[in-house]
Amino acid sequence: MTKISEIFASFQGEAGRAGMPSLWVRFFGCNLECQGFGQEFPMEPDTYKKDVFDFNVIKEMKDVPVPQFGCDSSYSWSKQFKHLVRRMSIDEIVTELLALGKDRFDMDEFEWTNLRTGQPIQLCFTGGEPMLNQKTMLEILKELDRRESNVHYITIETNGTKLAKKEFLNYIWVNGLDLEWAVSPKLFSVSGEACVVFPEVIDTYAGSWVPEFPINIKFVVNGTEACWDELDSIMIKFLDKFHGSGTAYWIMPEGATIEDQTQKSVADIVNEGMRRGFKIATRNHIAVYGNQVGT
Ligand code: SF4
Repeated sequence: MTKISEIFASFQGEAGRAGMPSLWVRFFGCNLECQGFGQEFPMEPDTYKKDVFDFNVIKEMKDVPVPQFGCDSSYSWSKQFKHLVRRMSIDEIVTELLALGKDRFDMDEFEWTNLRTGQPIQLCFTGGEPMLNQKTMLEILKELDRRESNVHYITIETNGTKLAKKEFLNYIWVNGLDLEWAVSPKLFSVSGEACVVFPEVIDTYAGSWVPEFPINIKFVVNGTEACWDELDSIMIKFLDKFHGSGTAYWIMPEGATIEDQTQKSVADIVNEGMRRGFKIATRNHIAVYGNQVGT
């Protein structure tokens, strides 16, 4: 049985495949906590503020409020939300995905395309940290194949701290699946997590033993001087490691709510990001669905 935080249908809101209708598997569990997000002083844990929720009234995922402080997906790893976790078999996960695709996207379950336009629908693994679940991701893909359900586009959203397993990438390559990585390494000056950016780990995602899978690297930034300085020094390592590989670099302004994302300071962050040569990842799903999890 696998611990699943939620299975939902939405569109890809950020980065490379933004706009693509997507079926999501959000795993429960993460190796980081990122409590510095939304804090005035992310590098000083003693100053952290906390959201106060009444966990007794949170009975299902739609009741989960979007937090102001810390990880915006804490419901996908924090023990306080463990009563919402679903323990699901591979068969149950796949059955639910296909039913959801049919219901929400009028999806041809054998082709993962819309029945009218033929446009593709992708499968997106997120978390928590999905790279803690490579065996399960592999089993889901194998079960889809067993059911002759030909998913083609896959995105994995990861914090980039866990090595990719050869068996997992080989399966994707051998079966001709179109995998895109959405890697979000966490800056200390924004997330409060120190020393968790590992270009050499992210390098394993490209698959040096197989043709390359595209990698998008997305940094959440808060526009402080400390943040830009840290990003500058980290980018030296990335540009050295991934030189000529076509890796795309994005920034995303910090903020989990529509109020955060429409502050005037966001425009300043975006302008500075473009000046420094980044693509801009805005959180389009928040503009559409508002402050709601499962979108
Ligand atoms: S890596 Fe992502 S899911 Fe994990 S704690 Fe940080 S922001 Fe949250």
